[in-house]
Amino acid sequence: MASKGRKIGTKKDEVEGTSIQNRFISIPGYSSRMKVHYIMGMGFDANIFFIEAEKPILIDAGTGSNTAGAVKTIEEHIDPKIIDSIILTHRHIDHVGGAEELSKICDAQLYASVDESIPLIEGDRTTTGSAMFNIPLNKLDVSVLNYGGSFDLGDEKLKILHTPGHTVGSISLFHEKSGSLFSGDTVFTNGGVGRWDFETGSYQQLLASIEMLKELKTKNMYPGHGPYAEGDATEHIETSLKFLRYAEIF
Ligand SMILES: [Zn+2]
Repeated sequence: MASKGRKIGTKKDEVEGTSIQNRFISIPGYSSRMKVHYIMGMGFDANIFFIEAEKPILIDAGTGSNTAGAVKTIEEHIDPKIIDSIILTHRHIDHVGGAEELSKICDAQLYASVDESIPLIEGDRTTTGSAMFNIPLNKLDVSVLNYGGSFDLGDEKLKILHTPGHTVGSISLFHEKSGSLFSGDTVFTNGGVGRWDFETGSYQQLLASIEMLKELKTKNMYPGHGPYAEGDATEHIETSLKFLRYAEIF
């Protein structure tokens, strides 16, 4: 449920191979207690981001195949029980399949936008891709995030941006001070964009969402799949936009 036109394997990947998994990132050019840990999704699995802050959170939960690895990463830094919240960028099973188990281990509340929370609360196996990919999905206890609101990390906050197109209620999260964007499956590095041909997807909405993201002063991008980009995220987004505009011809 990832991307069209996504190139996998940056210089960084080639150098570090799979050891990049669980590596630690401190947001460049920004010193605070907020730190981002990248838990790389292997293959079809989505990336999980563990954000250390006064109130630490997780962004996305993967399929569930690497829940133990994610917990190990968290435990290297904090007691997982300190995590109160897991934000799901959208409904797809490669992002939410691990949500139930992770939320139990962390004793954390799940959050999603109103449009994405409904299928998750109902345990909808169709539009989440759970049935298609044969990954189980139980009904989830999900609280609703308001579009345009912000998520409190204590000493920091993330803006909740509605970025529909991949799914109708997809969100991206933006840390304004450091220019860090958690883009879910809306836009990826190296010119990748989210697929718009799944149920509730829309090419026009995706285009509008990425055009909006391009206007942000984005330095760093941490997408739902593939490598992240630090320093030059806006250039990656511009490349994705060019690809997406070109794709309309077909
Ligand atoms: Zn997706």
